[in-house]
Amino acid sequence: MTKITIKKGYSEKIREGFPLLTKEMIQQGNIEQEGKVFTAIDPRGQFLAKGYLGKQNKGSGWLLTWDQNEEIREPLFKNKLEEAVAFRKDFFDDNQTDAFRLFNGEGDGIGGLTIDHYAGHYLFTWYSTGIYQFRDEILSAFEQILSYKSIYEKKRFDSKGQYVEDDDFVKGERPDFPLLVKENGAHFAVYLNDGAMTGVFLDQRNVRKAIRDKYAEGKTVLNTFSYTGAFSVFAALGGATKTTSVDLANRSVPKTIEQFSMNGIDYEAQDILVRDVFRYFNYCVKNEVKFDLVIMDPPSFARSKKHTFSASKDYMNLVKQAIDITEKKGIIVASTNAASFDMKKFRSFIDQAFKEKGARYKIIETFSLPEDFRTTEAYPAGDYLKVCVIQTM
Ligand code: SAH
Repeated sequence: MTKITIKKGYSEKIREGFPLLTKEMIQQGNIEQEGKVFTAIDPRGQFLAKGYLGKQNKGSGWLLTWDQNEEIREPLFKNKLEEAVAFRKDFFDDNQTDAFRLFNGEGDGIGGLTIDHYAGHYLFTWYSTGIYQFRDEILSAFEQILSYKSIYEKKRFDSKGQYVEDDDFVKGERPDFPLLVKENGAHFAVYLNDGAMTGVFLDQRNVRKAIRDKYAEGKTVLNTFSYTGAFSVFAALGGATKTTSVDLANRSVPKTIEQFSMNGIDYEAQDILVRDVFRYFNYCVKNEVKFDLVIMDPPSFARSKKHTFSASKDYMNLVKQAIDITEKKGIIVASTNAASFDMKKFRSFIDQAFKEKGARYKIIETFSLPEDFRTTEAYPAGDYLKVCVIQTM
């Protein structure tokens, strides 16, 4: 078996359960062969943990067991899957929600793999060619535990985590798309064989619910970076007087119309705009357009013709722009999935934005990942979602 010697300081980290192998941790050893099982040892040759090599933007591989006698084979995968299923028992029993994450990478003990459940259909996402080498064993373990209508997969192999275009069908019976899934009683159209994304980001479930149940009634709502308009749908269901969805991508219009229609909402009573959000903010300022509730969930990094947006550098300015177009006593829902900074830092961006605007605010609620997006304390960066509900004053 391949041995990788870990530097002294990092050895302690691994001993405490840190699951990721990165280049700077390595004192000696070859990390070139994707999918290769390795033993991590400390500089004195003592066993630390076992893992597999798989290049991702996050690192070079994942540790899967701290037990010297456990093999990285089907029984290990089966154990981890069984535990993951048991952990989601409440989701399987929930008749209002049938779209959730069944397996969340290192949070469930196998970095580099996620599995999402959509109304009896499953979507596997493989984040490296390394983890893909275990595909047959993992699928076999999965089939021993769960029955399914169909299995699809996404391959996000290269170091940037780009999706590899392919027919993503794996097995079962090909359903007609869109699949109709439920979330807290609302409906979404989902596509499992149509590029990298499925139409809904499951990690925002609790935020959508809060918008519907607590923040939307009687409000004018601006949803920026709206994608398929999932937040707009929940705002409309919660009694918003009108929603405005803004996204740069042309596809967002038919996609948003579809999600509204799935929920019996007249899309013609809503605004769905293909615009650069930054230009739209300027337009609103110029024309004195304001909203009661402004939702912002930008990608952590994006390039448009005029702008490069990076959450870690530019979120503060985004909040400043949102302040300009939010009514007094309004609400700003600020969300980010950037793993490169934590909640404390995120709150400092918000604080600085309000300070620079000379405005006051209160954070009335925060969200991180929902329960099905299980994380481990040993790897805090896995808990990437940060959402602040901000009351302006
Ligand atoms: N908030 C969405 C997910 C956002 S995904 C949801 O809850 O479902 C990020 C979206 O931002 C993509 O649809 C992308 O097209 C859009 N986007 C990226 N840069 C943009 C810009 N400058 N202006 C408007 N939309 C942008």
